Amino acid sequence: MTTLPGVGPRVGQKLHRLGIEDLQDLLFHLPLRYQDRTRIWPISLLRIGDEALVEAEISHCEIISRHRRMLLVTIADGSGTLILRFFHFNSAQQKMLQAGTRVRCFSEIRKGPLSLEMVHPEINTVADHVPSDVESRLTPVYPTTEGLHQNQLRKLADHALNWLSQAENRLSEWLPEQYLKDSLRYGLNEAIAYIHHPPPDADVGLLEEVRHPAQQRLAFEELLAQQLSLIRLRAKVRTQPARLLRPSRTLFPNLAASLPFTLTKAQQRVITQIGKDLASTTPMQRLVQGDVGSGKTIVAAAACLQAIEQGYQAAIMAPTELLAEQHFRSFSQWLVPLELTVSWLSGKQKTKQRRKTVEGLSSGATSLVIGTHALFQEDVSFTRLALVIVDEQHRFGVHQRLALREKGFADGHCPHQLIMTATPIPRTLAMTAYADLDYSVIDELPPGRIPVKTVALSNARRSEVISRVRKACEQDRQAYWVCTLIEESEVLQCQTAEDTAALLARELPHLGVALIHGRMPAREKEDIMLRFKSGEIQLLVATTVIEVGVDVPNASLMIIENAERLGLAQLHQLRGRVGRGTVESSCVLLFQSPLSETARHRLQAMRETTDGFEIAKMDLKLRGPGEVLGTRQTGMLHFRIADLVRDQRLIPLVQKTAKKLFAEQPQNVDFLIRRWIGNSEQYGQV
Ligand code: ADP
Ligand code: MG
Repeated sequence: MTTLPGVGPRVGQKLHRLGIEDLQDLLFHLPLRYQDRTRIWPISLLRIGDEALVEAEISHCEIISRHRRMLLVTIADGSGTLILRFFHFNSAQQKMLQAGTRVRCFSEIRKGPLSLEMVHPEINTVADHVPSDVESRLTPVYPTTEGLHQNQLRKLADHALNWLSQAENRLSEWLPEQYLKDSLRYGLNEAIAYIHHPPPDADVGLLEEVRHPAQQRLAFEELLAQQLSLIRLRAKVRTQPARLLRPSRTLFPNLAASLPFTLTKAQQRVITQIGKDLASTTPMQRLVQGDVGSGKTIVAAAACLQAIEQGYQAAIMAPTELLAEQHFRSFSQWLVPLELTVSWLSGKQKTKQRRKTVEGLSSGATSLVIGTHALFQEDVSFTRLALVIVDEQHRFGVHQRLALREKGFADGHCPHQLIMTATPIPRTLAMTAYADLDYSVIDELPPGRIPVKTVALSNARRSEVISRVRKACEQDRQAYWVCTLIEESEVLQCQTAEDTAALLARELPHLGVALIHGRMPAREKEDIMLRFKSGEIQLLVATTVIEVGVDVPNASLMIIENAERLGLAQLHQLRGRVGRGTVESSCVLLFQSPLSETARHRLQAMRETTDGFEIAKMDLKLRGPGEVLGTRQTGMLHFRIADLVRDQRLIPLVQKTAKKLFAEQPQNVDFLIRRWIGNSEQYGQV
């Protein structure tokens, strides 16, 4: 495809930030919304909040300085008057805007002190008595980036559309069209043209929700391409030989016997499934989903020991330093008594330490390594890596997961791969998002867990909550106080964590109170966490940084401020930080009245259940699936147009079509993947 015309390196860089490298990318860079310049509105019909084109004569123009200097231009079109307000203007503009001049302006209509106004409208003078044209199509508003003007993007997009309109440049259709005729009303080229410049009578509401048939046509094709690439990826991996790992006869039975608990049925079932996968020369590709606290770590350990007992290495990748460190501790505790070496690799390690770990891996002396994404840096190599485990998959992209698998390629063998996640994703979605994986669920919590008692209290009862914290800490327990935003925000009127920490320290002078938030240097965070673990700090005021990976069993009280602002999944993760010890824990959801209907249901759901899957189900009902998968979770797949959740309806047909294409038009599979996903390395040599 041709490169972009008249684009220098500076604009090029900005386009790159938007993921635009060539004409095709421009075609697929779709408008977020539209402006209507297809007709001129009489001033009398304008409504606040509309964006409208107005043509009128200037009746008055003056500079006033109240709080600041501004230019006020009054225009009239016979039906009414409108004020144009400018805070920045030069004398040339002022001269242009003389009484008697006809102007055409476009902007949002706002309510001013005296009449309706436009603030800094786009404005052109209109020559007298020359009827000038209006646009014939809606004007696209594109997602853009700092320093890149809409007009620049529009020009580039128009250029791309022009290019597309030439017969020889039309994009080919690779879908089995006959078969899809009823479902897909637009051809690819028509869909693209329509979406960039819809006709004046288009259903803008539908377009802005990305549910218009033209957009769905593209979403369908993109979902299909993703599905094809995942299926092909899976098939490709399955052609690679893997090490056959026999079930562990000594190491895991020994570990299991030394545990202070017995495995749940669900853990046993999943361990058996994994065990079978590993005892095969086809590489395992399995996703294990299990709620917070369901005991995924020991399942991972069972898999590792099956590899290690056969003389191979295993690697575990965690998304944060905090979590990796916690795994390192658990695994050391379990494996060192079995006379195995566990090592640790992180981006923050001192060079000397790091070198030692890296040497252990390349010499084969180390059988298990745990680390962050530092694991797949260039200097890390394994001799006999047979198993790769990725924890909390939703925090990694497909790319990182595959990169680690590639690392393990030694003398033509592909490592087995196990992915673990606590995010309860509904089954159909999981099967689409992870079409390359098999799927297991740990649907049972270890027995004897004392469910966390949850109450919801209005902010008006803060002082009660503070005395509750005091009482808990006087009984040698510890508490978290979670604030949802760290900065004062006028809009949200959220209490800052800083203020809260200061206030609580004042109210609870005998307690060790400390603050932890995401903007602190990592060292400081670690230090505070250690002091909290040791009990020196009793009340930890935190932002949501503690959502994942914090394990302090003595903490038995969790206060979440402005709980009405958080989604169920996040509330559940946060609450999961308590209820880990032997005493009954509780969670207080502080909320700001009045509660919206949804917020009320959310808080009620939290009070009624502690089961992550139940909560996920309710979350789906309350928020619609869109936010359940959230941006963080969908980081695993990057869509330009499609949305796995919004477009769920398309998925059955996507899956059927994928099968059909593989069977009947395999050459098109390749074309489709290349069009939508490109030759990015993640789908290359795996
Ligand atoms: P997660 O699934 O959230 O990763 P973990 O593996 O961290 O859960 O387990 C949470 C806690 O439960 C750990 O302290 C672990 O030792 C303990 N645990 C795991 N399995 C069982 C079991 N079958 N019975 C009792 N406790 C268990
Ligand atoms: Mg875990």
